[in-house]
Formats: sequence, structure tokens, C-alpha cells
Amino acid sequence: MRLYHMILVLAALIVSLNMAFQALWLHQFSQVRDSMREFGGNYLPSVRKAGDLTRLVTEFRNLELRYVLAVHERELAGLARQMGRIAARIITAEEHLDGLCQTPEERRDFQGYLAAKASYVAGNRAVLEAMLDGRAVEAAALARGKAADYALMISRLEGIERVNMELGVEANREAGDRFGRMLGSMALAGLATSLLGAGAAVLAARRIGQPIARLARHMVLSDGSPPEDPPPPVPSGVSSEVRVLYEAFGDLSAKLSASMQRLEALAVTDQLTGLPNRRKLLEEGPLALAICRRGGHPCSVAMLDLDHFKAVNDTHGHDAGDAVLSQTAAVLRSVVRDSDVLARVGGEEFALLAPNSGREETLHLAERLRRAVEEHVVTHGPLSLRVTVSIGTATDHHGAGGFDALLRQADQALYRAKESGRNRVVSSEDASSEGTA
Ligand code: GH3
Ligand code: MG
Ligand code: MG
Repeated sequence: MRLYHMILVLAALIVSLNMAFQALWLHQFSQVRDSMREFGGNYLPSVRKAGDLTRLVTEFRNLELRYVLAVHERELAGLARQMGRIAARIITAEEHLDGLCQTPEERRDFQGYLAAKASYVAGNRAVLEAMLDGRAVEAAALARGKAADYALMISRLEGIERVNMELGVEANREAGDRFGRMLGSMALAGLATSLLGAGAAVLAARRIGQPIARLARHMVLSDGSPPEDPPPPVPSGVSSEVRVLYEAFGDLSAKLSASMQRLEALAVTDQLTGLPNRRKLLEEGPLALAICRRGGHPCSVAMLDLDHFKAVNDTHGHDAGDAVLSQTAAVLRSVVRDSDVLARVGGEEFALLAPNSGREETLHLAERLRRAVEEHVVTHGPLSLRVTVSIGTATDHHGAGGFDALLRQADQALYRAKESGRNRVVSSEDASSEGTA
């Protein structure tokens, strides 16, 4: 599975998990809200209304008792007015409570209350009639019955109050429980989505971030040059996209390195003759000189310049001149040793670096070179011609000068070889020419 597919799947999981939990929370919230509504809209008013009714009934009962004991007309009238008002409020409260009582238990209590009240009211009339008829003993018994009815009314109202209190407490507890469950599921959802998110981040970091950082470290070098080491191997477990990137980088790196090598070789090679150029000689010369000096060995150079080369160009054309240059280079190369460096340092000028060669040895080598050029017949199409070369040599015997100085000495010897007639070898230490003209 590709990494971006995995991350998409993880993101989809996080989103769907969140949506599922949000749906759950909405449901739990609405349940909590219903519980609270039930509590505030039903149980609480029922408790309050039943309490109000209890107080009103008790008040009525007290007024009634005071009425029985009252003697003055005015007091009786006042109490009767008060009782009338309380009775009206009792009826209103009963209507409210009737509307609030919904459970069978409440309805039973409310009906019990109404029945006890009816009996109480009927008892009122009976007591009154018995008292008016002078049946004092019966009236007392009936009054006791009323007290029992009163107690029953209060007890029924208390029953309604208790039922609603219990239901309210239950609703409250349920809301609390639901809220607790909601908090739990919220914590769980938070933890799960955080873990999934962290997993996606770790996955992306390990399978994309780290390998790319590694590749980038390999590519960036302090001097800004392209990396020389082979590209790092594709780490295991990386995503396919990163694998493609590693492979592309490896490919690019190999091509770049091959191009660099070609360019480097081109920069130090003379195109016409294929010999190392002046730049290469100036790179290698000082190193070779230093190594020879450290080893206590001599180090020699020779400067070679074709004689009257301009005339070749002038007579036979520039192409013929080129043929002379490349064929002469090949002849020279065939004579020198592998450890020597033969370079083309100018138009028709060559230089030879011969490490570990003394003066005599170099003179012999130069002589062999001179003769090989002299004996070679250059052919160019129908054209056959011969050229000669003048050579100046110089040998370093642990001297103090640098490679440049050694080259200058060889150049001066070459100048003397030209001066003294060309086609000869002159050593810088010799005042006079030595070549075989
Ligand atoms: P001398 O014996 O004194 O060295 O005389 P010379 O003619 O060899 O020397 P000169 O410096 O007068 O002429 C060198 C000529 O080499 C001049 C130039 O046109 C020619 N030359 C330089 N580079 C090239 C090249 O790459 N190809 C060809 N065909 N000719 C070249
Ligand atoms: Mg020249
Ligand atoms: Mg010349």
C-alpha cells in the first residue's frame, strides 16, 4: 500500500471516528437534556405543587379548628372569609397537580387524596348536622373521622411529593451518569484520534521525512560540489514514492559523476593530440618534483619545439600542420616511458616530465625523441613530409627553485638549441649545444 493511501486511510479513520463520537455525544446530550427537562418541567413542579397543597390544606384545617372554637360573630365571619379564599386556592392547586400527576402511582395517590378530601368535606356536613341536632357524642366521633381523613389527605400529598422526589433524584442521577459516560467517550475519542494522528505523523516522518533528510544530507556538501560517494542504499520500509526518489537520485548521481569525470579529463587533455595539456603538466610537475626531492632522486624536464613549423602550415595548409602535430605526438609518446608525462603545452611545443631521471639519462631520452621525430615520415593524404624538433633539457638536483624555474631553465636550453641551428638537444647546464644536427 502506498504511503499516501495509508495516510488517507488514517485521516478517513480519524474523521469517521470523530463523526461517530459526535453522533454519540449528540444523542447523549439530548438524553441529558431530556432528563433535565423532565426534572425541571415535571418532578420539581409536582413536588412544589404537592407541598403548596399540603400547606393550604393544613392552613384550611387550622382555620376550621379555630372556627369551631370561635365565639364572636366577627371572628367567625373573618375566619369564614379566609377559609373561602383558601378553599379557592386549594381548588386551583388541585387542578395544577392533577395536570402534573402522570404516573399510575401519582394518579393513585391523587385519587386517594380526592377521595379523602370528599370524605372530609362530607364529614364537615355530618358534624354540623350532628351538632345542630345536639348529638354531641356522634359529632365528636365524626370529628375524629375527619381528622383521619385529613391525615390521609396529607399522607397522599406526601406520597405524590415522595414519588416525584424519587423520580427527580433518579432523573438527576441518570443525567449525571450519562454525562459521565459522555466525558468517558470524549476522552476515549480524543485519545484514539490523537493516537491515530500521532501514528500518521510517525509514519510520515519515518517513511518520508527521515529518508529524504538522509538523501538531502548526502547531496549537500560543504563545498557545493556533487557527491562523490555512491548514493545511499534505499532504506528498508520506505514508501514507494521515496524509493522512486532514491532510485532517480542514484541514476542522476551516476550520470553526473560520469559527466564530471569526462569534463575533468577534457579539461586536462589536448583535443588534437590526446596528450595531457599544460594545465595537467603544471598540476603533476610540482608533485613529481616534491616526491623526487623527498626520495633524494633527480627530476628532469625537457621542452620540445618543432622546427620551422610555421612553414609547414604556410606551405601545406593548416590541416597538414595538424597532421604533423598529432603524428609527432604519437611518435613522441611511443618513445617515452609510462612513468613520464608528455604534454602538449603550446601550438607546436611539447614538454616532458621525467621523474627520477638524471641529466645524462634525460639527454639520452631527448636524443631518442629527436631522432624518432626526424626519422618519422608524416603522411597527410598524398603528402609526405619530415619535420625536426629542438629540445632543451633541465635537471633538478635537490635545487631550491620550483617546477616553474625548472621549466624556465629547459626553455632557455631550448632557445639555445634553436639558436645553435635547431634539430638538436641542449642541456641547461651546458653552455654549448649538443644536438646532432
Ligand atoms: P621555430 O623553428 O623558430 O620554432 O619556428 P616555427 O615556425 O616553428 O615557430 P613559430 O612560433 O614562428 O610558428 C609556430 C606556428 O605554429 C605558428 C602557428 O600558426 C602554428 N600553430 C600553432 N598551433 C597550431 C595548431 O594547432 N595547428 C596548426 N596547424 N598550426 C599551429
Ligand atoms: Mg614555438
Ligand atoms: Mg617551432
